[in-house]
Amino acid sequence: VDEFSLIERYFDVQTPPASVVLGIGDDTAILKPPSTQDLLVTTDTLVSGVHFPAETHPAAIGHKALAVNLSDIAAMGGEPAWFTLALTIPDIDEGWLEAFSASLHELARRYDVSLVGGDTTRGPLSITVTMIGTVTEGKAIKRSNAKPGDAVFVTGSLGDAALALHCLQNDIEIDAAIMARLREALDEPMPRIDEGRILRNHASAMIDISDGLVADLGHILSASSVAAEMLTQQLPLSQNVLEATNQAKITTDRLIQFALTGGDDYELCVAVPESQLSALQQSWSPSLAPLTRVGTITTGSGLKLYDADGQSGTSAATGGYTHFDEHTD
Ligand code: ADP
Ligand code: MG
Repeated sequence: VDEFSLIERYFDVQTPPASVVLGIGDDTAILKPPSTQDLLVTTDTLVSGVHFPAETHPAAIGHKALAVNLSDIAAMGGEPAWFTLALTIPDIDEGWLEAFSASLHELARRYDVSLVGGDTTRGPLSITVTMIGTVTEGKAIKRSNAKPGDAVFVTGSLGDAALALHCLQNDIEIDAAIMARLREALDEPMPRIDEGRILRNHASAMIDISDGLVADLGHILSASSVAAEMLTQQLPLSQNVLEATNQAKITTDRLIQFALTGGDDYELCVAVPESQLSALQQSWSPSLAPLTRVGTITTGSGLKLYDADGQSGTSAATGGYTHFDEHTD
């Protein structure tokens, strides 16, 4: 197939909504944003061998390329709307393209986002998605507005993807059904768009967790010039993670490390003023991912971690998790 029939077959398959004045097929797309909205624009690239192993299933790659961009829109409290796809492939493998595009379109339909253009080139496998979203004027939730006294929450559970990667890379054998669910967290993370829609009404600052909670909360802390305290025993851990670590004989300390510093969770981390806590609680519905309080914003800088025994360890605002030290507070 030539480039044009490839685009037609695998990518120009949606019926675009009214906001797409002109979709795939011309020099550019023409989009009609709502007049009272700000636009949110974000890009993420996945490179084979860097962001995923070359042999990763194409359905997982298609899902993840879109999911990581949707996650960024969620973290601003936005509505995702349109995206472009720059696809670099080593050769035309129709089976690969079929699985990749089917999974990409499935996630796109789920969140009602339209593929409006892109580029297709030959070279080492790499996928760049640019996502455009909308948010009520002036209402995007930035990283820079957290205040001392705000509660810190995270959605979902932490460490699932990192533990999956750890088990895969080290050939650690665990129960197949549990491993399958952990792999789903790694390969097909669900962007927290619905959760972001509620959180945007209550949050002072928000970020999505792509590089681990410590690193990403650290971005909120430095952008807001504040510090935070966190209780590691309150970190939300999934049943899968607990069972898997048990089977793999991984220690609690190690497990907490995965939850604190493991990447690829794509959960939201959010700061919420005290005055908003009951309203937030009331608007949270059971169909959403669970929301767990993990700590509190304080004055100063850096992140202070407390374990179950009240032992503290500090972590630089910008860097990764360090270790628990010996003294108690
Ligand atoms: P141009 O040379 O004008 O950049 P291209 O030949 O690269 O156009 O692409 C033709 C049309 O197909 C354009 O509308 C472009 O946005 C779209 N397109 C190309 N590759 C993709 C892709 N992988 N996914 C979606 N649309 C694509
Ligand atoms: Mg082009």
